[in-house]
Amino acid sequence: MSTDLTTFAGLLSTIEDPNGRELLDPATGEVVGRTREGSTADIDTAVAAARKVQSDWASRSSEERSELLNKAADAVEASAEALAELLSREQGKPLNGPNARFEVGACAVWLRANAAFELEPEVLVDDEETHAELHYAPVGVVGAVGPWNWPMMISVWQFAPSLKMGNTVVLKPSEYTPLSVQALVAVINEVLPADVLTVVPGSGEVGAALTSHEDIDKIMFTGSTKTGQAIMRSAADTLARLTLELGGNDAGIVLENADPAAIAGDLFWGAFINTGQTCAAMKRLYVPESLYDQVCEALVEVAKQSPMGVGLEEENVLGPLQNKQQYDIVAKLVQAAKDSGARVLTGGDPAADQPGYFYPTTLVADIDNDNPLVAEEQFGPVLPIIKYTDLEQAIGWANELEVGLGSSVWGSDLEECKKVAARLQAGSTWINKHGAVDPRIPFGGVKKSGFGLEFGLEGLKHVSVPHVISW
Ligand code: NDP
Repeated sequence: MSTDLTTFAGLLSTIEDPNGRELLDPATGEVVGRTREGSTADIDTAVAAARKVQSDWASRSSEERSELLNKAADAVEASAEALAELLSREQGKPLNGPNARFEVGACAVWLRANAAFELEPEVLVDDEETHAELHYAPVGVVGAVGPWNWPMMISVWQFAPSLKMGNTVVLKPSEYTPLSVQALVAVINEVLPADVLTVVPGSGEVGAALTSHEDIDKIMFTGSTKTGQAIMRSAADTLARLTLELGGNDAGIVLENADPAAIAGDLFWGAFINTGQTCAAMKRLYVPESLYDQVCEALVEVAKQSPMGVGLEEENVLGPLQNKQQYDIVAKLVQAAKDSGARVLTGGDPAADQPGYFYPTTLVADIDNDNPLVAEEQFGPVLPIIKYTDLEQAIGWANELEVGLGSSVWGSDLEECKKVAARLQAGSTWINKHGAVDPRIPFGGVKKSGFGLEFGLEGLKHVSVPHVISW
């Protein structure tokens, strides 16, 4: 077995099972590699091994764990091009733009950020009679289940804070992107002790075996609301702690005083990052009548300058949908919009005979707020632009769905933007940007977008158990 993790072939040979299931490049249909398929028995083995080493890992000093996380970041950077190439081939996302190289870079950034955080005990009461401190202890063994849109980065979001706090982690990647996660973990495990971080690829059934396992103390899940609900039901039996990040249908509201030309680029990438396959991407845009045509035209211009194609071709910044299931959802929602008489500004007409799950960049105007393309999460390269005449109406529309992950407000008066932001029902509201996650700033959803926070010191608290000591 090759140990050269810095080349694509070397990296793949380290993780590939020659008799395993084929993964096809969603851009070309070519075989990327073959994955080992784990079983529910493998989950038992991995959890038992993670349990066995957890107390040793937790007994190391926080500085020592940080040093190892920093070394893990060094290892990721040393293999960055190989990781990005595998990610691009398996997930479909281009190397360039806010895509594969960006994602691998973010893995290193999140590892280093978590290495730098320190969760100190909090003094709760300190008077003549009573002293009380809130300490944070590791929760134990974390089971992490991830999605296919940002497979490496979201895995790091789950395991970096967990490891920093002294937990051990068993990961179950999406069956669409198992090689990317196995490759990342292979690189990182060059520096971590054995069994502290394990990956078990497999189906949803294997995921369910992990999340319902009696010996899992905490579940970190990113994926659909439906699966999140199933996990929550099974956690009723084990009382495993939960962090659920379940996607959303983020609204952006442009205010009357916004400058369409100045915001068009950030509006576009707020919606089309990772070809729209992003939990906290903007999925519906509300624009006042007075700016409507200007915003639509400016967005069409950015779309024209943003090439879509095979990920390994350097010029491309948009790629295919990752899988047929997602392609069909996008195609059906755009068709519903067209059937309703909405106006397609660009895109909306996929080529019938090309290989890969490419759906063209699509902007849809003159669409009603209750159209399925607005009301349902499209999770693809499509943005409906809804005209409003009254800001109260736009705020009401933004808040009326049962999800609430991100949202954004766009305008030139910061105080006004902040007032509108405070009224939006979402875990995060960005001003003049969208989806700008930052390892220092907590991130999580409200309503059916889930609960629990990731990132920053709050993220560390969510992979810990509180322990109050008083005297
Ligand atoms: P799922 O929720 O089905 O999958 C997410 C992860 O959960 C995968 O690793 C999956 O494994 C695993 N899983 C599936 N069933 C179970 C279970 N019963 N218990 C534990 N784990 C399980 O999402 P999909 O991939 O089917 O995508 C569906 C929709 O979810 C998309 O259309 C999109 O709207 C949304 N989504 C949201 C994401 C986000 O970032 N919040 C990311 C991806 C999708 P396996 O893949 O092997 O089935």
